[in-house]
Amino acid sequence: MSTSSELLAQARRVIPGGVNSPVRAFSAVEGDPPFIDRGEGVHLYDVDGNRYIDLVGSWGPLILGHAHPFVVDAVRAAMARGASFGAPTEAEVRFAEDIVAAVPSVEQVRLVSSGTEATMHALRLARGFTGRDAVLKLDGCYHGAHDTVLVSAGSGVATYARPGSPGILAPATLTAPFNDLDAAVARLEAHPVAAVILEPVAGNMGCVAPAPGYLEGLREACTAHGTLLIFDEVMTGFRLALGGAQERFGVTPDLTCLGKIVGGGLPLAAFGGRREIMQRLSPVGPVYQAGTLSGNPLAVAAGRATLQLLREPGFYDHLEHISEGLEARLAGPVARAGASLSRVGSMMTLFFRATPPRRFAEVKECDFERFARFHRACLEEGVYLPCSQYEAAFLPALLTDEDLDQTAAAIARALARSAA
Ligand SMILES: *Cc1c(COP(=O)(O)O)cnc(C)c1O
Repeated sequence: MSTSSELLAQARRVIPGGVNSPVRAFSAVEGDPPFIDRGEGVHLYDVDGNRYIDLVGSWGPLILGHAHPFVVDAVRAAMARGASFGAPTEAEVRFAEDIVAAVPSVEQVRLVSSGTEATMHALRLARGFTGRDAVLKLDGCYHGAHDTVLVSAGSGVATYARPGSPGILAPATLTAPFNDLDAAVARLEAHPVAAVILEPVAGNMGCVAPAPGYLEGLREACTAHGTLLIFDEVMTGFRLALGGAQERFGVTPDLTCLGKIVGGGLPLAAFGGRREIMQRLSPVGPVYQAGTLSGNPLAVAAGRATLQLLREPGFYDHLEHISEGLEARLAGPVARAGASLSRVGSMMTLFFRATPPRRFAEVKECDFERFARFHRACLEEGVYLPCSQYEAAFLPALLTDEDLDQTAAAIARALARSAA
């Protein structure tokens, strides 16, 4: 029995399912999850001594790979000055300035500790600002684990085959299919809606790009109906461009949620937007929002160091080049397997379906049994991929041509092995 399997058995005695977040349980694929010992650059090492090319990157944050020396040094220096004060610091101001400079829609920003908090508070703020209760979310998008958005959600909520979740209270959440502009407009016409929230490029139903004109159409419809447009860029922020999907697609939302990369691997997230809206937040405005560890010095240090490296000229061109390189190497094997590859920037999903899905309902038509076999075969070939068809892989910027050759060859072997 492997050390990972022994640890899983021990974990299950004291932690529900043995994991602190459901997707880690590997329930939708074959075999047990490896327990991780350490990460170094693009590699992950498990407690049984196996090494993997890591295309999960902690589900998005690790665009610079594991334990980047510049980030490690920044966190070490911050830790030596004290882990937390619950009081303002200069570093938070500089970091907020960096975020405002990078993300087009963000004039003011507030730091929180998780993406879940960011979307929860952005939605509360939208309700407070508009005086309306209802929000519209799109099928297959995931916005964290709070009540309003656990409806028709992607990621682990979809993997574990729940229509939503028992225990949630979300009477004011309307839904529409992703990439169906007419359906969204019909909802806005029928109800006073505080906000439309979406992932501008979906990553939590696997990687699904917005149809041409979709984001622009939502922007127009929201403006026409006095509804705030919220881009949940927890995954796409600092991933698809320094300014996120809103920079890449040239569509500016009213509010933006950030997470994952912005914290450089530490627990940090943010929400921001138009000054007029952000000024409704406590203590200047009446909408309450707070957090003991918000703006935590260690997380701020990791985030600032990460953003500093992302601002280096050519960073995103290089990331795009790497991502194109992997896609090109995989094109033949993927086509021979009757599968399809969906990629936007350095986010990608290999779908066991002949054409890339455009909507959540189409993702549900994939061959999940084959995905489960493929995923296990990838692990055995040394490639660590997200353990569900409803997730996107994330490429780190440090992948070399040799890494890409090895990764593509390993995935090609795993595809061949997973054929029934
Ligand atoms: C990961 C994710 C969240 C939730 O962030 P947590 O830090 O896990 O709470 C919200 N929205 C999107 C788009 C995400 O990918």
